[in-house]
Amino acid sequence: MKINQCFLDLKDSYLFATVGRKTAEYKKAHPDKDVIRLSIGDVTRPLAPAVITAMKKAVEDMASVTTFKGYGPDQTCYGYDALLDSILGSYSRKGVTLEKGEVFISDGAKSDCGNILDILSKDNIVLLPDPVYPAYADANVMAGRKIIYANANEANGFLPMPDKKVKADIIYICSPNNPTGAAYTREQLKAWVDYAKSLGALILYDAAYEYFVTDSSLARSIYEVEGAKECAIEICSYSKTAGFTGVRCGYTIVPYALMREGVSLNKLWARRQSTKFNGVSYVTQMGAAAVFSEEGERQITENIAYYRENAKIIGDTLDELGIWYTGGKNSPYIWLKCPNGMDSWAFFDYLLEEANVVGTPGSGFGRNGEGFFRLTAFGTKENTQEACRRISKLLKK
Ligand code: PLP
Repeated sequence: MKINQCFLDLKDSYLFATVGRKTAEYKKAHPDKDVIRLSIGDVTRPLAPAVITAMKKAVEDMASVTTFKGYGPDQTCYGYDALLDSILGSYSRKGVTLEKGEVFISDGAKSDCGNILDILSKDNIVLLPDPVYPAYADANVMAGRKIIYANANEANGFLPMPDKKVKADIIYICSPNNPTGAAYTREQLKAWVDYAKSLGALILYDAAYEYFVTDSSLARSIYEVEGAKECAIEICSYSKTAGFTGVRCGYTIVPYALMREGVSLNKLWARRQSTKFNGVSYVTQMGAAAVFSEEGERQITENIAYYRENAKIIGDTLDELGIWYTGGKNSPYIWLKCPNGMDSWAFFDYLLEEANVVGTPGSGFGRNGEGFFRLTAFGTKENTQEACRRISKLLKK
């Protein structure tokens, strides 16, 4: 037996481990200090009442022989109609028409960002932005694919655009972005779609944060861009939209129009899923189906507004301090330039020790993240206000 040697090429994922260790050490040495974490990428608001009601009803269904559910429906790769219909409805409100068979219910975006690679050749060259959500890079390293990077930096507002001189086969785009919070306009995405089509490449579009978009010029789905159905798979999640990080549900769109080498990627993905996946639980799917109901949507919008207000508190503080940043307006992430030329870890230590506030060093997301720092809006309003008061006091000095 031989192991997959590619796993030995993975870099240790020490970013969040180091953040956790340093924070724990500081708290141990200073037990009287109130340390506030603005580093978390996890949500804190509870599930919407409409979701809870739907899940309770689904649990009751499981208790009766007439309404009990086993494996999900085969013909839609285990997605129940109620959920598929609500997803189609949410897309049609964005002006995008999809068919049920193009929607694959998943247990979240992270799994499919990696799993989708099963249907793509190992020889493909992968283009990632730098800085990047680490799971994209790691999933491709595990498969032994060559990775190249598009530089995201202050000059391009952390929104790299295609370079015609660069040849790539698989292009990951995350918008609004983790970690930078930057989001592409429809026009910018059109340039990526045209580039991908000119190369016969595939875009893997991660829309996990689409619900945070408010500006009308920004896309919430890549399919708002003409021609995208011929070159893009969209991966989405209820995690950040509706607080499902612990419940686990998402969806991946593989359009019928997406063909390569005369083969339908939709068919390949359906074949892959029917072999390696047995669907998402009925109770979870019924909870997710309630998210885009009229009542559910109103309730999740309130939760998103809560995080958005936190993001504004952070953004206003940085504006007052004259610190450059991206994100925060159409995203729960604020990506700021470390003051006084500090590197990412130096600023982490400084904020922890002097303001008792924890963030995430940008260098952990890639070479271009050095000198930058990520704060999140997923905390409580009280903690966000207090953290900002301390940051303001510290950096105004
Ligand atoms: N994609 C991005 C860009 C993320 O930031 C995250 C989580 O932080 C995920 C995917 C994972 O989402 P899920 O909880 O649906 O697996």
